[in-house]
Amino acid sequence: MKYSTRHLLITAVSSLGLAACAAQPGIEPVAAPVAAEPVFTGAPLDASVPSQLPRIAAPLHYDVSVTPDAGALTFTGEAGIDFELYEPSATLTLNALDLSFTSASLTGVDGRPIALTVATDGTAQTATFTAPTPLAPGKYRLTTAYTGVINTQANGLFALDYPDKTGGGDVRGLFTQFEAPDARRFLPSFDEPSYKATFSLSATVPADDLAVSNMPVASETPAVGGKKTVVFQTSPKMSSYLLFFATGRFERLAEKSESGAEVGIVSPKGSGEQARFALDSLGPLLTYYRDYFGQPYPLPKLDNVAGPGQSQFFGAMENWGAIFTFERILLDDPRITSEATRQQIYTTQAHEVAHQWFGDLVTMAWWDDLWLNEGFASWMETKASDHFHPDWQPLLDRVDGRERAMTLDAFATTHPIVQTIRTVEDTNQAFDAITYQKGEAVITMLESYAGEDVWRDGLRAYMAKHKYANTRTDDLWNAVEAAGAKGLTAIAHDFTNQPGIPLLRVGGITCASGQTTVQLVQSEFSRDRKDRVDADGRRWRVPVLARAGNGAVARQVVTGGATTLTLPGCGPVLINAGQAGYYRTLYSPAALGALKGSFTSLAPIDQLGLLGDNFALANAGYQPMGAALDLLAVTPPGANQKVLGDAAGRYEILYGYFDDQPAVQKQIAARASAALAPAMRRLGFDARPGEPALDSILRSELLGALGTMGDAKVLAEARRRFALLDTDPAALDGPLKSRWLGIVASNTSAAEWDKLRAMAKGSKSAVERSAFYTLLGNAKDPKLAQRALDLALTDEPGKTVSAAIIGAAARNHAELAVDFAQKNQVAVDRLIDASARARFLAGLAASSNDPAMIAKLEGIAAPLPADARKPYDKTIATLKERSVSRPRIKGEIAAWLKAK
Ligand SMILES: [Zn+2]
Repeated sequence: MKYSTRHLLITAVSSLGLAACAAQPGIEPVAAPVAAEPVFTGAPLDASVPSQLPRIAAPLHYDVSVTPDAGALTFTGEAGIDFELYEPSATLTLNALDLSFTSASLTGVDGRPIALTVATDGTAQTATFTAPTPLAPGKYRLTTAYTGVINTQANGLFALDYPDKTGGGDVRGLFTQFEAPDARRFLPSFDEPSYKATFSLSATVPADDLAVSNMPVASETPAVGGKKTVVFQTSPKMSSYLLFFATGRFERLAEKSESGAEVGIVSPKGSGEQARFALDSLGPLLTYYRDYFGQPYPLPKLDNVAGPGQSQFFGAMENWGAIFTFERILLDDPRITSEATRQQIYTTQAHEVAHQWFGDLVTMAWWDDLWLNEGFASWMETKASDHFHPDWQPLLDRVDGRERAMTLDAFATTHPIVQTIRTVEDTNQAFDAITYQKGEAVITMLESYAGEDVWRDGLRAYMAKHKYANTRTDDLWNAVEAAGAKGLTAIAHDFTNQPGIPLLRVGGITCASGQTTVQLVQSEFSRDRKDRVDADGRRWRVPVLARAGNGAVARQVVTGGATTLTLPGCGPVLINAGQAGYYRTLYSPAALGALKGSFTSLAPIDQLGLLGDNFALANAGYQPMGAALDLLAVTPPGANQKVLGDAAGRYEILYGYFDDQPAVQKQIAARASAALAPAMRRLGFDARPGEPALDSILRSELLGALGTMGDAKVLAEARRRFALLDTDPAALDGPLKSRWLGIVASNTSAAEWDKLRAMAKGSKSAVERSAFYTLLGNAKDPKLAQRALDLALTDEPGKTVSAAIIGAAARNHAELAVDFAQKNQVAVDRLIDASARARFLAGLAASSNDPAMIAKLEGIAAPLPADARKPYDKTIATLKERSVSRPRIKGEIAAWLKAK
């Protein structure tokens, strides 16, 4: 899954912005799907895997038939579940949520039906089926009929309404989202990842619908009332959260891939060539991963299904054979898709296709190890993108990912990568920057330690050994260590089982006889418990790559407190050369001064790493802000596009500190203008045909940053272009459309706000409509922000857009948005997926600079159960630290500006 998150503003950088199969013509049948292997190896059930179900039974196969009533937002279902009972019991407890059962019976090997009673428990999300007398261990089939709910947010079976691209009014498509864990809203099930089983799905839908599931269609037959019954082929053995179903007025653009499977993009009718970009990359990705993992893609087809709408929880989902992706990050509409979004379309798909192996073929046993799925898919997405599009320089984005992870990881409220998950809410909250970005960063470090070939060999062995089964984190370490990475497990444990960030302080550096010695002292980097890290005494085995001057990169595993590094050659010492390490480096002023002197000659990734580290260290009070500002000041105007984009984001953040001091803002804007003007002049305001993709992205980032800082030329140009829309509605079409409109929306007048709203209302594109409505929340004018909030509670923007409007308003007006969401809590909850509800309000508060917000959040969080209050604790920790550090940071920035 690609999860959604809004950046905490404190250090994030703006630019950086989840049985038997019938053959079908043209599709190869799946070779013997899996049923040959037992569901559980070893003693009937692995009692060491956590479970919320009694560990007395396991599923073998599900037959599920559903008939949705899209108009009434309900569905009927029938499920036949083959399972094995391992202990005598009169009851069988499955997961079920918002399902009403109309019948239930059981058949044993003797074929005689046994009537069951059903009791549901909404809190435990279970249904318990009870037989009149205890059943003997053995194989049974549970048969049950039920009705369920079609949701208007992305949980379980859900509806998305959108403008018909072929003309006419709004139409409704139905989709499913079962992670994590919501298959129980669709069918009674053993809804935990370790209970793998095969699934046969059929659905009765309108005759002109296109219905999609994990597997190809086995048969279609007419049904009464203008409907048809679609039967899908039986899936391989898989976890329930990977089941998928969608139906609606869709079209499919498909082709045979080199790896043999058919690949397709399913999108709203009329999407046409908008699906081409994603389709063109889907087949090659499948082949790339097949070769990397050394395992064939085991299904006959892979679709990526576009859903017009959005979620506060996720962007895309790796259902096996039928990825779901929100349309805005799957279809390429040249009228509005920016270059950054095109790359996001690519990387998102690369992420979800990686999951087809890592997650779907081999699955974590329990949510404690969610990072195995997500950290890995995040790392693999970057690796695949770099393979196919090295000109995009995706490896440089890992520095930003690491910063996002460290933003969370520097607070006492963080958690280890491998964490304890016991409730559904715990599971929902596990989708965060620690699981994804720290996961990716640690894997990057471990791959660098093992070497690319050894690492890949280990993964191939891991895939071969655990396919169609479940694993824990140590299974991966064992496989990579066995492939030749001696010592890897111990390093991996230090970084995955304990939270936090190592801090390496660079002490004395001496150079003699062509060799440099560096004294390093290890402790822990923290923002809110600096006074306690010594007592806590956390230490890591840190694989360090370092270099002196132009000498060769040397590797050493730093353990314990003090260490001496020996590097060949002399010159400025760079620790974490290549930025594969997950730690921060605090240089002595002299060592940092030497690096500043040679900053221009460093590789772009090291420039990004140094900027990230030194701003974080200064923000946290380990060194004065001047140390970081000095580095920003020497960033050359001709630097790599990603370095300049990063610098632009940093100027924007500096500017944002001084809302109450326009004179200081002016100074910062002038510095930013001088630093960024040469690049802006080179790029111009309009895309040039055939220009490098990174130029296109940088142009947009520079416009955004300069617009935020009130650059007169940029603001005038945005307004001029906005006015052109009166006579030519296509005047802004192209990759910068959202950028120009965003600049106008931030600085909008009431008349412009009304015009933008009319554009949103009139748009025939679901993506554009939602983007325009969301921009209404950007207004700096609090009266207009309030109008946007009020609009969010009406039906006008659409069911999945309103929460994004509230989120946009919170960026400039956290207090307004929090008060609004609190006052209208019941109505606002309906606008958010259940999985994201607990963190929504705390997320709105995260950009607040008002210390009064702390008490307000403490009041809201006080009555909540422990799992639901965690997001509040995180925001409260951030705001508390900010209330202390912000005045210091502002003082140091102002002093530095004065001294210049
Ligand atoms: Zn994922």
